[in-house]
Amino acid sequence: MLRIGCHLSSSKGFLAMAKTAESIGATTFQFFTRNPRGGAVKEWLPEDVAAMLEYFEKAGIAKPLAHAPYTLNACAKEERTREFALETFADDLKRLEMIPGVMYNFHPGSHVGQGAEEGIRLIADTLNKTLWQEMHTTVLLETMAGKGSEVGRSFEELRAILDRVELSDKMGVCLDTCHVWDGGYDIVEHLDDVLGEFDRIIGLERLHAVHLNDSMNPCGAHKDRHEKIGQGHIGTEAFRKIVTHPMLKNLPFYLETPNETDGYRAEIALLRGMEE
Ligand code: FE
Ligand code: FE
Ligand code: ZN
Repeated sequence: MLRIGCHLSSSKGFLAMAKTAESIGATTFQFFTRNPRGGAVKEWLPEDVAAMLEYFEKAGIAKPLAHAPYTLNACAKEERTREFALETFADDLKRLEMIPGVMYNFHPGSHVGQGAEEGIRLIADTLNKTLWQEMHTTVLLETMAGKGSEVGRSFEELRAILDRVELSDKMGVCLDTCHVWDGGYDIVEHLDDVLGEFDRIIGLERLHAVHLNDSMNPCGAHKDRHEKIGQGHIGTEAFRKIVTHPMLKNLPFYLETPNETDGYRAEIALLRGMEE
């Protein structure tokens, strides 16, 4: 059975997210580790986390995906900005040890004119300073649309980061359908080729999660504007092929479409209905 969920607000705590997930037919979900716009970080209560984990068993929920604030930039030009990203990663990773089986997804960053090669070096450097041997969380690099100077716009760039990380076995990739499409990978007409290329360059065993988003823009637009499933340039039929593809169907899927809970409930039902 499809493991599918969506991005949920963490403002009411962990147990509340698990309950919301179950109420919309989700068996997984994604959440921000903290407010992406900054501000004070709320404490994670061990009893709330424990209650969520207990609820997981009852509701058949697994594979929660933590998303780092998208405002972080591990390859910024300013040293202070890079340090802030490093401190935030380190603090998030420490907290995430409370949640067994969690994965931590982040946007590699924007090199802001320093060049992709330097960006890749700085991102790997940040990871080498924050990962540790005994940690339990799998850290995922997200495939990016290539907006502005975003690093991670191609499978090659992600591979180059992975190659530089010492504790590389802690690392994986999250494929975002809107981002790869905007990045120029035609998953509508050539899904098999794109997945073959991913396997050849990165290795399919590195793929741990899929963000399901339609796109407001054509393939290669480098824009990153998410659209509701079936209402964008990717379209319903492509999503049917994606969620039933033998190379993908056992992965967890997370919707990040512009929806409230009712819209997510409908999209989850739509995608579940696509299973053979
Ligand atoms: Fe993201
Ligand atoms: Fe995403
Ligand atoms: Zn996006």
